[in-house]
Amino acid sequence: MPVGETRVRLDALLDALVEDVPDFPKPGVLFKDITPLLRDPTGFAATVEALASAASELVDGAIDKVVGIEARGFILAAPVALAVGAGFVPVRKAGKLPGVTHAVTYELEYAESTLEVREDAFRSGERVLVVDDVLATGGTIAATVELVRECEAEVAGVAVLLELAFLGGRRGKAAGLPLTALRVVS
Ligand code: AMP
Repeated sequence: MPVGETRVRLDALLDALVEDVPDFPKPGVLFKDITPLLRDPTGFAATVEALASAASELVDGAIDKVVGIEARGFILAAPVALAVGAGFVPVRKAGKLPGVTHAVTYELEYAESTLEVREDAFRSGERVLVVDDVLATGGTIAATVELVRECEAEVAGVAVLLELAFLGGRRGKAAGLPLTALRVVS
């Protein structure tokens, strides 16, 4: 299928299968629910393929590891890691990972959180792709990038399914990062 047609098909799938849930998990937040997309095998496969191909276009050279951020990031990042021939590394909420970890505490759109990664997750200089479902304020991505860099690995790219552009993450907390989004919500 020509690239343009694939793009139109993916946009239509995302429009149809990502549901807006008002006032969840608290009043004032318009939650982007990807569970209808995940339970649709065509939509899920097209999303993983599109994230992998957008990442390969964005990143110059090989990707050694793909990082997924707990919890929805795991679901997308693990198949993307397989698709690009890289290992998968989970970045988890506080207290979930055994062994020695690096930790970063940061503010979310609707909470505060601490993320951790195992200190031995990367070899020095490895090239890393970070994958998550939604870029909102960019705090989660910025914290994850900090963790990767603390492990002396290099963030080669960031790929998200949805970018909430009105929250300004790309020019704010995620500024300066090579970043691609399958769908930008303005
Ligand atoms: P942020 O750190 O503000 O960029 O928030 C991004 C993280 O919070 C991602 O891991 C998302 O899963 C989650 N998130 C933030 N806002 C939303 C939203 N409106 N809908 C769904 N998930 C969101």
